[in-house]
Amino acid sequence: MTVFAPGCALVEESRLELSAENSSPAEASVHASTTKFTELGLSEVTLAALAKVAYETPSPVQAGIIPVAMTGRDVLGQARTGTGKTAAFAIPILERLNEPGRGHKPRALVLAPTRELAVQVRDEMHRLADGTKLRAIAVYGGKPLKSQIDRLQKGADIVIGTPGRVLDHLGRGTLVLDQLEVIVLDEADRMLDIGFRPDIEKILRRCPANRQTLLLSATVAPGVERLARRYMTDPEVMDFSPKGKSLDTIEQRYFTVEDVKKYDLLMALLKREEPAQAIIFARTKRGVDKLHRKISRRYPEVACIHGDMQQNVRDRVMKQFRAGEAKLLVATDVVGRGIDVSGISHIINYDMPQSSDDYVHRVGRTGRMGREGIAFTFVTPEQGNELTRIEMLINKLLARDEIDGFQAVAQAAPPQEAAADGPPPEPEPPKPKPPGQRARRRHRRGL
Ligand code: AMP
Repeated sequence: MTVFAPGCALVEESRLELSAENSSPAEASVHASTTKFTELGLSEVTLAALAKVAYETPSPVQAGIIPVAMTGRDVLGQARTGTGKTAAFAIPILERLNEPGRGHKPRALVLAPTRELAVQVRDEMHRLADGTKLRAIAVYGGKPLKSQIDRLQKGADIVIGTPGRVLDHLGRGTLVLDQLEVIVLDEADRMLDIGFRPDIEKILRRCPANRQTLLLSATVAPGVERLARRYMTDPEVMDFSPKGKSLDTIEQRYFTVEDVKKYDLLMALLKREEPAQAIIFARTKRGVDKLHRKISRRYPEVACIHGDMQQNVRDRVMKQFRAGEAKLLVATDVVGRGIDVSGISHIINYDMPQSSDDYVHRVGRTGRMGREGIAFTFVTPEQGNELTRIEMLINKLLARDEIDGFQAVAQAAPPQEAAADGPPPEPEPPKPKPPGQRARRRHRRGL
């Protein structure tokens, strides 16, 4: 594999055994910061679509990936959501397909981990395909097969889908990949986390050997690397990951609050902050429902979303939220993680996230594409250690916040801050868990 690291840390060489012969990080970073869309060799129709969506300059991920992917080469891009990665693979696909194929068979396939992400990718593809006759459709579980089959039969140039449903269509013969030119594995690490590896491999084995493969992943964990080794051809590896998980553009604060006072604190916080748009994260589906009911008495513009809701209801909620009709969205992690809505000004962790990684994903829903964002985390007096773990992961201390005149704890709580001039203390080593415990816990949490 070849390394190309536009202004970012190189992927750890020992793990990937990368050959560095073509790597040029310095050149790449200049390239990323000065490139204009007009310099990327894009067609007039794509430039017009970009102007219409008001994308003025390519993000570093786009400046890095688009020119390489347009040569037809495989690319392994390490990039999180919120970096413009969707357009980074969508534009080369649209440029390559250019005109609708004569047949009805798809020429590009995008695999995405969740239904929400599949819809998001399809919508971005539609926006960027403006002015072409290319057709992009999304296929995902929870929606009737029939209407998807009808749309596939009418012909689609680009199919975006979750692996399970794509495989289902392949099995039925309603989706045929023998004309496929490009496959994208979007958020590959999440797809593997969810357990889609067997499905992904089955799909990849049914793609023509000479197709182009683009793989996007927030992390290049060993599972992702194995997938790349087996199914990609001499990919160019590009690392756009921030050094450390610092969520730099996002202000992050916490409140110490007793469990019974959380709701009142939330009301006081919403009053003080008047967020343009906020996601309020709760841990369980029941918790989301309950909180949504209570909030809606005071704020009618609140919606909620979790994995038990029917897909069409989830789609409607996301549409309302994206359109700004809902200002507050109460969500569980599983659906909250992939949400990309640029207007989200506030994240409120009403319940502490289960893992520090979840914290990073939640908070990353705001501050999209360099915009400002703020995140508040409600920490009960017993959850000090969990806060410390998060602070160690993001390598930053959260500022303690208080609301004037609001007593969040009955008695003075022990201060949560670590010494301001020293590093946060070492967290206790995790206790060994019997196999299956994590899965059971996730199940109990109802995610
Ligand atoms: P993504 O990482 O693909 O989920 O994109 C994050 C957000 O950035 C989306 O809301 C995109 O519409 C937006 N976006 C992507 N590329 C650009 C760009 N070059 N300029 C401005 N906004 C962009």
